[in-house]
Amino acid sequence: MKTRLNLSNAELDAIVEETTDTVWKQIDCTTCANCCRTLQIVVDDKDISRLSAHLGTTPSEFSRRYVQIGKDKTKYFTKIPCPFLGEDNRCTVYEARPQACSGYPYLHWKGFRTHSLMMLDGCSTCPIVFNVWHALKQRLQPPKR
Ligand code: SF4
Ligand code: SF4
Repeated sequence: MKTRLNLSNAELDAIVEETTDTVWKQIDCTTCANCCRTLQIVVDDKDISRLSAHLGTTPSEFSRRYVQIGKDKTKYFTKIPCPFLGEDNRCTVYEARPQACSGYPYLHWKGFRTHSLMMLDGCSTCPIVFNVWHALKQRLQPPKR
């Protein structure tokens, strides 16, 4: 898919987007929430500022309660599952959720070819990603001789 398909990046992105939209309509995230349960969520200062305002606290208090800093200085939510996942599998801070969450599972990103390995990684977490890959393989595989 990365190199052998006779499709431009824009054509491949359009197929991935269309496939994703079709698959997503068939999956209800509130019956899953696997991303919120299993992934370590990366946050940046804008996320922290937005979330702390949303919760009526300060960025430093929010960071003290919910954020850790990795060796490479990346900031993460300390806990897995995410502390903001509600019992009904909905996000309790949805309007202010981190950028990393609002883009997940990143299948609408442009440049699918360049991040397709990351997508492959998502197959074990997200049924949308798994089913999009499966559909893409069926749609794009050359016919067997
Ligand atoms: S893992 Fe995928 S299907 Fe499950 S809640 Fe997250 S985005 Fe939705
Ligand atoms: S902030 Fe919301 S969307 Fe993001 S991991 Fe937590 S519960 Fe899920």
